[in-house]
Amino acid sequence: MAYKSVNPYTKKVLGTFEILSEKELHLKLQKAEEVFHEWSKRTVSERVRLLEEVAGLIDKQKALHAEIITAEMGKPINQSIAEVEKCAWLCRYYAEQAEDHLKPFTMESTARESQVWFEPLGIIFAVMPWNFPYWQVFRYLAPNIMAGNTCLLKHASNVPQCAEAMEKLFLQGGANEGIFQNLFIDYGQSEMVIKHPRVAGVTLTGSNYAGYKIAELAGRYGKKTVLELGGSDPFIVFESATLEKAVETGIIARFQNTGQSCIAAKRFFIHDRIFEEYATILVDRIKKQKTGDPMNPETNIGPVAREDLLLELEDQISRMVREGGRIITGGKRVNPDKLLLEPTVITNLSPESPINDEELFGPVLPLFSFRDEQEVIHYANHNPFGLGANIWTSDPEQAKRVAHQIETGTVAINGMVKSEPNLPFGGVKASGYGRELSVFGIREFVNIKTVNFF
Ligand code: NAP
Repeated sequence: MAYKSVNPYTKKVLGTFEILSEKELHLKLQKAEEVFHEWSKRTVSERVRLLEEVAGLIDKQKALHAEIITAEMGKPINQSIAEVEKCAWLCRYYAEQAEDHLKPFTMESTARESQVWFEPLGIIFAVMPWNFPYWQVFRYLAPNIMAGNTCLLKHASNVPQCAEAMEKLFLQGGANEGIFQNLFIDYGQSEMVIKHPRVAGVTLTGSNYAGYKIAELAGRYGKKTVLELGGSDPFIVFESATLEKAVETGIIARFQNTGQSCIAAKRFFIHDRIFEEYATILVDRIKKQKTGDPMNPETNIGPVAREDLLLELEDQISRMVREGGRIITGGKRVNPDKLLLEPTVITNLSPESPINDEELFGPVLPLFSFRDEQEVIHYANHNPFGLGANIWTSDPEQAKRVAHQIETGTVAINGMVKSEPNLPFGGVKASGYGRELSVFGIREFVNIKTVNFF
């Protein structure tokens, strides 16, 4: 097995990258351990400089990194630029806030004084997906590096150039070799990493299948995990919503990153009195989306990242149609030789059909109608996932009432679910556990040490 970089739009092979030998992997683990002893002893204010340097480098090199993303996984170029810029924002957020987030504090107790300290834990191993190949990695790297941990990454095998470019970025920013190392390893070698005594935590962003496999291994060796898994966010539009805005935002929420986002809106529930009107405007706007070459700045929807993923999506569409689903726009490839799927809208499906339990990871939008609040809450929760939810209503009381009853990690009211450095991010149910970003993210992999003075 080797890591292979293939441009999903041109299908050109951009490079192959050999798997590490056991000996090479061993040396990298040794390095991560050695550097941990040094890095963990630095103060947070000493560590801040690295993230500031990296943020500055991203500003200067953003076109280069955005092009690597677009070439390897097909994200439309303007969205790749936005992803890279967000990484710089994240670095600056933790550079500014880490000291405060990790500040010791005092608690009442039977001792004369009790303090809580946040100390580095060790090496943190990340297994990451290709869909936001920089952002997902940065949101683990920035807080862990600030917390004094060292980091090892197993990236998705279709984005090896992204992995190498990020490693280089940190080295250029002045990181000691060993603070962050990319590992080209196979699944079996993950175990060698996880069982290493100095590896203290494992974080995976990806599918449920991969998440449970890695969590099982981590459990075998008693290592803490954070899992950021799939999602099937509901997008609920009540009768009182501003329709135009709910269509415009719905299109971004579903089709951004060619529909390959964990927090994409993946099930649309529209009140039955506005269903026809919503569907008509939606289809009209979708027809104006530009599907094509992701390097063209005018493209909104690019190729699906890999052939196997598009085949899976096409199989899901066929099964939906067999269940009675009616395609009202899209449904086929733009060109049989390309991995471009027309943005697709499907109606006439039952919101309780088991097919809705699957994640639709591509530009496909199932549209359902509902009669009342209780019914739509039931439909929204009738799903294994619990990542995010979007609620559109002009009644603030209704918005709060519904938000309370929806089982997800995030709710967006009259807007779309998105992540920000300063807000906790994560899911419940099959979407995983633990939180990334904000003060919660930086405290996932630290030793929360209680110190009593008697
Ligand atoms: P994936 O196929 O599960 O892969 C994720 C990572 O896990 C890749 O690095 C993959 O390596 C690795 N992996 C898979 N099976 C493994 C095993 N048995 N042992 C060790 N490593 C293993 O997911 P993906 O297709 O890259 O990403 C899409 C999924 O990620 C979607 O479900 C999406 O919703 C989810 N996601 C969640 C969030 C969130 O924050 N909740 C964010 C982004 C994406 P290979 O590439 O080598 O197979």
